[in-house]
Amino acid sequence: MYALLLAALTVVLAGAAPRAMSRLVRFRRAPRPALVAWQAVSLSAVLAALCAAPAAVPYLNETTQRWLVFAIAGAVTLIVLGRLLLSGHRIGTRLRAARARHRELVDVLAAPTSLSSQVEGRADGIRVLDHATPTAYCLPGRRSRVVLTQGALAALPDDELEAVLAHERAHLRGRHDLLIEYFTVLHHSVPNPVRSPEALGEVRLLVEALADRAAVRQSGPVTTARALMTLAQGQAPEAGLGAGGDGTTAARMRLLAAEPLPSLTVALMYAYAAAVLILPLALLGLAWQ
Ligand SMILES: [Zn+2]
Repeated sequence: MYALLLAALTVVLAGAAPRAMSRLVRFRRAPRPALVAWQAVSLSAVLAALCAAPAAVPYLNETTQRWLVFAIAGAVTLIVLGRLLLSGHRIGTRLRAARARHRELVDVLAAPTSLSSQVEGRADGIRVLDHATPTAYCLPGRRSRVVLTQGALAALPDDELEAVLAHERAHLRGRHDLLIEYFTVLHHSVPNPVRSPEALGEVRLLVEALADRAAVRQSGPVTTARALMTLAQGQAPEAGLGAGGDGTTAARMRLLAAEPLPSLTVALMYAYAAAVLILPLALLGLAWQ
């Protein structure tokens, strides 16, 4: 029965697959295709759940057994859809409110006069907080901000500061916040026994690795690594995306030094993403044949 296959596929893609994928640390060396594969797996899990009930429809007839299958598949579809909508609404509202509050606070605390000559004139949207801990993070959204502390400005030489700014701007430009929000919503909509906390952690790391690549392009791997070390003691707020200090520094340092993956491996990663995404639709197609 394709409906039951799709229901089983949902469970595998939401639980077992992320757990297995987070152990394949080799693929972190290609953060972009790795993120595409993570998105494909999570989207495919949702698709499989949404297709489960429709896949049971062509088999409906008088036998109770088949109605039972439809009931199971329908329950999977409805539960996943309901939980997705609810968790999407809750997390989205909470995150946007927290971010808006934080941005207001930063704008009040970082008076224009506190803007150091180091960052003055570089770009609008940079705010400097009078705090000794070296921290850098960005607040994404329509009125985005890059927030630095005086401690960061004091500790970072010019080239490392450029690396940090390139890292934060990569987050803002790539709207990495939306990607993390999407995975957070999915994470909370999956029921606890199936949920895999590894997925969210891995996606966060990959997003940082992706932004680090922009920093490396700007300032080179050694300077970027030095900047990461300096910022490792700081901490970004939940509403922002940091440049260091989230406990991933060691893993990111290793990635800075690692060789990139061969292009054949990268091509296979994209092929895997495409295959995973097509699978639930193919099963639905077969059910309706
Ligand atoms: Zn970052």
